[in-house]
Amino acid sequence: MSDEQASRSYLASTMGCYCPRCREGRLFKSQRAYKFGEILKMNQACPVCGQPTEIEPGFYYGTAYVSYALTIALSTATFVAWLVLIGMSVKEGDHRIWYWLTFNGILLLALQPIFMRLARSIWISWFVKYDPHWKIHPISRESTERIVKEHMNNW
Ligand SMILES: [Zn+2]
Repeated sequence: MSDEQASRSYLASTMGCYCPRCREGRLFKSQRAYKFGEILKMNQACPVCGQPTEIEPGFYYGTAYVSYALTIALSTATFVAWLVLIGMSVKEGDHRIWYWLTFNGILLLALQPIFMRLARSIWISWFVKYDPHWKIHPISRESTERIVKEHMNNW
């Protein structure tokens, strides 16, 4: 990785599932979210700066809340879009709300791999700060000491 791409924004870094510390290394082993069995396979540490991706045992349990928030946000967005573009009512014979429910359900299912990855990327970005000088700063000790290696490959 070269210096010129070192200043990825927080949003671009998080959405792209990059390491929050250097914003250059990839969090996940495969870049394809839809490769079955590889969805949540993470690099044990960032391949660029060495930041561990599992800071402590069970670090990613909390991502369920992030996934839930993403699901609510997307559902709200599609609901409003549906209401504006297609419309819906509770009148008898108007099935448009059921069409929205079906559409939204399928969309949420289809996006699960992306949401699962995004939830982890967002989660770790709240705990690991961006360090533009990661090349000269050592990884903070408290974050590496709590690593449990055996847990790393069970995801
Ligand atoms: Zn990194």
